[in-house]
Amino acid sequence: MIDSSVFQGKKAVYHTLGCKLNFSETSTFAKSLEEMGVVEAGKDEPADICLINTCSVTEVADHKCRQAIHKLVRQNPNAFVVVTGCYAQLESEKVSNIEGVNLVLGANEKANLIQFLSDAWGKEHQYHSVKTKEIKTFQPSCSRGNRTRYFLKVQDGCNYFCTYCTIPYARGFSRNPSISSLVEQATKAAGEGGKEIVLTGVNIGEFGENSDESFLDLVKALDNVRGIERFRISSLEPDLMGDDLIEYCAGSRAFMPHFHIPLQSGSDKVLKLMHRRYDKDLFRRKVELIKKLMPDAFIGVDVMVGCRGEEPELFDECYDFLKSLDVTQLHVFPYSERPGTLALKIPYIVSDTEKKRRSKLLLDLSEEKRLAFYESHIGTLADVLFEKSNRGRAMHGFTRNYIRVELPASIARESYDNQIIKVRLKGFNHDKSALKAEILETP
Ligand code: SF4
Repeated sequence: MIDSSVFQGKKAVYHTLGCKLNFSETSTFAKSLEEMGVVEAGKDEPADICLINTCSVTEVADHKCRQAIHKLVRQNPNAFVVVTGCYAQLESEKVSNIEGVNLVLGANEKANLIQFLSDAWGKEHQYHSVKTKEIKTFQPSCSRGNRTRYFLKVQDGCNYFCTYCTIPYARGFSRNPSISSLVEQATKAAGEGGKEIVLTGVNIGEFGENSDESFLDLVKALDNVRGIERFRISSLEPDLMGDDLIEYCAGSRAFMPHFHIPLQSGSDKVLKLMHRRYDKDLFRRKVELIKKLMPDAFIGVDVMVGCRGEEPELFDECYDFLKSLDVTQLHVFPYSERPGTLALKIPYIVSDTEKKRRSKLLLDLSEEKRLAFYESHIGTLADVLFEKSNRGRAMHGFTRNYIRVELPASIARESYDNQIIKVRLKGFNHDKSALKAEILETP
């Protein structure tokens, strides 16, 4: 039984660390609490409930989580403090021992946040988390980011166990809801005026592992949701990106020519050490097929630098491979040691200074590629979905193939918010983070 009187008129503050999935889950927590009568505390207003949704992707992330908890406890000495998310799952006891923390919820329990909160209210600190293989719950989540896009969680967990990663321990094995429930959530988002949805998850390509529905079935079903003009897939493992999926996206109504593929290393030897399930050749074939069918596609690639075993010549091989690939942008992550992972058994260690040097080389390469991609679009026509802006500020939006577009404050209009507008792409803006645009048709 939920004691709703606990919540009436209470003020809450939310703090999220980590990925889009976490942000989208925090919005769901906030929505559930709002339905119980909780309002968001204003800036500098003391809160009755503090909710911190944590991340544990690196050592730095763990540290930031602890800092955020301490800060919120200090700022809200009388609040009931709830901590959830990946760090809370992996280190539940440690987190519950932080002074001021009242309740710690692991990956399985967070789906029943309201019940746990109602039960624990006013009690001594408690923590709850079950073992990885017992994590079974799926917390549905479709939330509007603070801008225009919706983030629809289509999958959670991962069965891959790459040697450097703790995500499967933190989020459990892969699981997903039915296609019909996801179509329902997308339809609701369209009803609220949403035009773009990003499909999020931990390892989205594993969708349907335990059912007779596939990720491609999901994509086809969502493509029929009227009102949603744009779908983007947040990230897809190369070995799970079927050619049939790429072919479908190329001819689809609303799936955008925009892909995000984790490569992690451009050396087959390192990919093996990481227990990744593909080699360079497969990755190149996927990129080539995308570019053959969608020459204008934006392709973002995740790369990890300085992992154990990445000897200098293997990094050089990775650099050369990336340089030769027709991709648009690199998302570069320095390797971070994670307790309990198999990677710790690999003897060769890359120093922090060398990790920084390698990151810088790849970030420079990324910028070169992105600028060349943007430049090749100057003078072309594009449809831009503009995002909510603050009055008197420049306005931004994205083309179908994810080029960031800027309208200076002088021509930005409130009426462009959340509208798809035809423009001609002009030169770079002041810091080259976007292209300027000439409006061709106003709504
Ligand atoms: S695919 Fe590998 S890196 Fe990605 S979440 Fe699963 S185990 Fe971690």
